[in-house]
Amino acid sequence: MAVTTVIPHIIKGQEVSESASFSPVFNPATGEETAQLAVADSATVADAVAKAQEALPAWRSTGLAKRADVFFKLREIITSRQSELAEIISLEHGKVPSDAAGEIARGLENVEFCAGLLHHMKGEYLEQAATGINVHQVRQPVGVVACITPFNFPAMVPLWMVTAAIAAGNTVILKPSERDPSAANWIVKAFHEAGLPEGVLNLVHGGKDTVEALIEAPQVKAVSFVGSTPIAKSIYERATALGKRCQALGGAKNHMVVMPDADLDAAADAAISAGFGSAGERCMAVSVVVPVGDIADELVAKIRERIADIKVGPGTDPQAEMGPVITAQAKERIEGFIAGAEESGASVLVDGRKADLPTSGYFIGPTLVDDVVPGMPVYDEEIFGPVLAVARVDTFDAAVELINSNRYANGTAVFTRDGRTAREFEFNIEVGMVGINVPIPVPIGAFSFGGWKDSLFGDTHIYGPEAFNFYTRRKVVTERWPLPSESQVNLGFPTH
Ligand code: NAD
Repeated sequence: MAVTTVIPHIIKGQEVSESASFSPVFNPATGEETAQLAVADSATVADAVAKAQEALPAWRSTGLAKRADVFFKLREIITSRQSELAEIISLEHGKVPSDAAGEIARGLENVEFCAGLLHHMKGEYLEQAATGINVHQVRQPVGVVACITPFNFPAMVPLWMVTAAIAAGNTVILKPSERDPSAANWIVKAFHEAGLPEGVLNLVHGGKDTVEALIEAPQVKAVSFVGSTPIAKSIYERATALGKRCQALGGAKNHMVVMPDADLDAAADAAISAGFGSAGERCMAVSVVVPVGDIADELVAKIRERIADIKVGPGTDPQAEMGPVITAQAKERIEGFIAGAEESGASVLVDGRKADLPTSGYFIGPTLVDDVVPGMPVYDEEIFGPVLAVARVDTFDAAVELINSNRYANGTAVFTRDGRTAREFEFNIEVGMVGINVPIPVPIGAFSFGGWKDSLFGDTHIYGPEAFNFYTRRKVVTERWPLPSESQVNLGFPTH
């Protein structure tokens, strides 16, 4: 049967389906093509940018309380219809609906945070900075913002970015992943239903060429990007060379240290949940467990036992806990890492290639690889799949050294019952987000999110308070209201 569904761009509130080219979208649980995605060429990008620029003066002048209203209404829309959005996510991404609902809940935190935009947009005021002189600082939007998002959180990551960008008075062009784009269309429509004026949030689809056209557009003043490290780095370099502000979040390799005093059952549960949830396709997934000392055998046995109970299947199966990976290419790549692990001398204790899996779609079973050390591709590379590595170390210091030597520094965790160990870990670890007995320490919406080193290029973290720094320019006004008698010529540099 011919595929007829076209996923359109949304420019100034209008769906645009015409396109010189299209790319297929697949259901990863079946391998079937579900839609054709309109791919924006440079003319379509230029149109979206022009519409965003046109909408800017009115939106930046809109009263803040009225802006906040959009977020209150948006919250209602997303909350009351979240199963609709979860189904879309599950169909195109493959994650099971309960996991999709979790992503929506975390995305909603950003809507809620932005409903408080009157507080976040407040400036500062200093009376009598010098005699008769007051100084105040205001926040103003940067202008047109480009938001480029990855496949693995097709609703949450767009909500990380567009919420604060819009709340701060900018206009936006969102470019979601071409692999699971429909959640972004749903979100843009929801914003319009919530009362956002047309042109404030626009959506274009496509890949590399579309992104490049967006970054190059002179009206685009800021770029938010989340995706893999090589692309994050190149986007950061390109955007900043053009004089634009840019925050580009990249890949990850997250370690979970388990100390000898930890509750090993709780640690094994956490390793399973954080390693295999969403088939390991989370930037905060635990991909390396680091048992310290002689608890390693016991911990590995507990993890292995639990793997046997994980139910892998499509999101349409209510029993399924873990879905497929995103594409046939991703499956092949991940299977290559498992084969490579064996070749490089690691021990593949559970081989997801040999699991009992649905025959269609891009499924891989949970995989456990022990005796992993730096230098092996299974350790060095971001796998982004259901492969949990175990890197055994003898001491706490060796665990810290291992993590601090890694190029990635998104998230990490320590499992311990000892407060002093936890404090040492927090103090010395060179990673942006740290969990203490929490395996996936994604900060709540009132804090900002970001890794260090090759996990983030740029100076500000994403969402939360730092987003209002990224999406605004500060203007400082110095004012004086002298009496005529106080005015005089003075060629010296003003001092107090
Ligand atoms: P990706 O880098 O392949 O794609 C991200 C975005 O960039 C997509 O919109 C894509 O269309 C676009 N793109 C692809 N190739 C491009 C190119 N050559 N030039 C310009 N743009 C291009 O990432 P992905 O596979 O969609 O997502 C998974 C990656 O994202 C993983 O590495 C994961 O760790 C990372 N990620 C990081 C975070 C974080 O917060 N640090 C969060 C989620 C995902």
